[in-house]
Amino acid sequence: MTAATAGAPQPIDREQLLARLRDAAPWDAVVIGGGATGLGIALDAATRGLRVALIDAQDFSAGTSSRSTKLVHGGVRYLAQGNLKLVREALEERAILLKIAPHIVHPLEFIVPCYRVFERETMRVGLGAYDLAAGRYSIGPTRALSKAETRERLPGVKAEGLRGGVSYWDGQFDDALMCIALMQTAYAHGATPINYVRCTALRPEGASTLVTAQDVETGEPFNLRTRCVFNAAGVWVDAIRKMANPSARPVTTVSQGSHLVVDRDFQPGTAGMMIPRTRDGRVLFAIPWHGKLLIGTTDQARADAPFDPQPSPQEIDFIIETAAGYLSRPIRQADLRAVFAGLRPLFSPSAAGSTARISREHAVLTESGSLISVVGGKWTTYRRMAVDALAAATHAGILPVGRSRTANLVLTQDDMLIASADDVLKAGNGLQRFSAHCRRFTQARTEADVLARRARLEFLDAASAQRAATRLRNAAA
Ligand SMILES: Cc1cc2nc3c(=O)[nH]c(=O)nc-3n(C[C@H](O)[C@H](O)[C@H](O)COP(=O)(O)OP(=O)(O)OC[C@H]3O[C@@H](n4cnc5c(N)ncnc54)[C@H](O)[C@@H]3O)c2cc1C
Repeated sequence: MTAATAGAPQPIDREQLLARLRDAAPWDAVVIGGGATGLGIALDAATRGLRVALIDAQDFSAGTSSRSTKLVHGGVRYLAQGNLKLVREALEERAILLKIAPHIVHPLEFIVPCYRVFERETMRVGLGAYDLAAGRYSIGPTRALSKAETRERLPGVKAEGLRGGVSYWDGQFDDALMCIALMQTAYAHGATPINYVRCTALRPEGASTLVTAQDVETGEPFNLRTRCVFNAAGVWVDAIRKMANPSARPVTTVSQGSHLVVDRDFQPGTAGMMIPRTRDGRVLFAIPWHGKLLIGTTDQARADAPFDPQPSPQEIDFIIETAAGYLSRPIRQADLRAVFAGLRPLFSPSAAGSTARISREHAVLTESGSLISVVGGKWTTYRRMAVDALAAATHAGILPVGRSRTANLVLTQDDMLIASADDVLKAGNGLQRFSAHCRRFTQARTEADVLARRARLEFLDAASAQRAATRLRNAAA
């Protein structure tokens, strides 16, 4: 597979984007939602030569797409469930993302520490099958490790009762920065992606749809006439479907997943740790991320879907307790640098049952004339979901048939963003320069946009983020 080289970011002027929204000329596609799914669709559509607008009620990635475990993976547990097709598809996408976003996605070694008799042998076979499923897209060998090798690679691992481990390779990335790269690339290809513009109504009008939207900052209303609406609103997808058809049956269930962030000295070294089976039947990861250790996740069904979900005390306790079985130094509440939660949109036609059993596979629904809703899925397969969404639009005769170019399209490389939060923010007036860059090139509008989803500081160290926010406010005063 070959790919073109990455472009540098261009300045993006909100006033110009708003002027495009005011323009009465019809759109080929309006995308609702600026997370992984919506941005993937906007990029795919724009690179086919379509006239595309993307609106998000919040910042890009502020929904679920900045709150993931940051893995580009096939999903070891899907293989355990026998869902080989899903795993293979995701592993192929992993190879594509390593190629089109090498500045954001990289291979990471994971170690499973083994304590039970024959655990190492069974894990070796299972993870060997995971690597076999990758075929020519394999990114590293799976192998059994002795007790000494496991301790060497996972210096913080609990040594008591340890029998050995298994090493395998998967992908890791920065989710929010990937969203920014997708947005910048879509913009460079002629799309109009804009944050803080909320969709308030949808009305089918003959062969087209009228999307009513509102600038969240100023209240200015917009009427966007379009041939096709892509509903990529994540866990809010049903609310958008109801705008077009008030009697639409919900197809999404919501599951909350939470993470803790602690200092790296709880588990130094370059490898991530994978715990294959927690008390609630999930996989738990402890992975190095921007100089910290990220531990998660949980799976808790929720009836509501707030824009800013928070981890419950029970989830935090659960992660601390589970990690204590595998780390030599137990984590205390006082050690937590940051905690965050995200909401998984799970496709569930029956909207019933345990959320852990519902497949992460996505669904594309064509309804109410030209409304195409994309439900479920995962970060790793956002590109494939976009291809499927565009295929649904062409199949329904809404958009012209075209070929996706995204498998070979290298995403914009914004070096200022990619430099780690620490490097950027420590240096003198680096914080203000960084903030100015984020506002000019990435559509950051607020302090949280800069500190949470560009610097990632709010996700890494909440107290430092607060101090940085004060510094930014003082500098602006
Ligand atoms: C805890 C957790 C860990 C995960 N870990 C991984 C992982 O490691 N790897 C992986 O591949 N996947 C992972 N996933 C899955 C992945 O993160 C999600 O599938 C993906 O981020 C969903 O993206 P999305 O664009 O569909 O939704 P979102 O990112 O939620 O985007 C939807 C957007 O729609 C916007 N919106 C809502 N209503 C409106 C409106 N009226 N007008 C305009 N905009 C609106 C919202 O503001 C939001 O930004 C994880 C998920 C969770 C919850």
